[in-house]
Amino acid sequence: MDRPVTIAKIDSGIVIDHIPAGKAFLISQVLGLNALARKTGDIIAIGINFESQSLNKKDIIKVENLSLTRNMLNVVSLIAPLATITRIENSKVIEKHKVEIPDRIGDVVICPDRFCITNHEQVLCKFSIVGKSPLTLRCHYCETEFFGPLIRYKEKS
Ligand SMILES: [Zn+2]
Repeated sequence: MDRPVTIAKIDSGIVIDHIPAGKAFLISQVLGLNALARKTGDIIAIGINFESQSLNKKDIIKVENLSLTRNMLNVVSLIAPLATITRIENSKVIEKHKVEIPDRIGDVVICPDRFCITNHEQVLCKFSIVGKSPLTLRCHYCETEFFGPLIRYKEKS
C-alpha cells in the first residue's frame, strides 16, 4: 500500500519535518499552537506516523502564517534534534534548515528539583545544555543536572 509521505500544502508559513513519531503533539503544546490557532484562525496541520527514510516513522507539523522565534526553534531542537524547518512564502520554499541544539535554553522546561527557586517564586527558568546525547540540562539557579523523562516541558495549551 502506498502511504502518504506528506500532508496538505500551505501557501505561507512553516513546516517542521522529521519529528520523531509521537512527538508532534508535545511540540504543538510547548509552542502553544492550539492557542495560536484559536487566536488567528490559521491552519495547523499535524501529521502523525508518516513514512520516513531516515526515521522509519515521523511526525510533521505545518503552520500557516507562522514564523518561529529563536526560542521556539530552540525548543523544537530539544524535542526533535533531527527536525528540518522549511519556511514557505507564496507556495515557494524560501528557506530550509536543520535545527541546532543551542547551548542555553530559556523558560520552556521545568526544573525537576522541587526545592529550586524557580518552583517557588516568579523566576524565569534558564538552563545550560551540558550534553546532547542523551540530552542533559543544568539549571542556572540550583545547578541540578537532569536528562531523560526528568525533562518536562512547559505546555502552553
Ligand atoms: Zn533548578
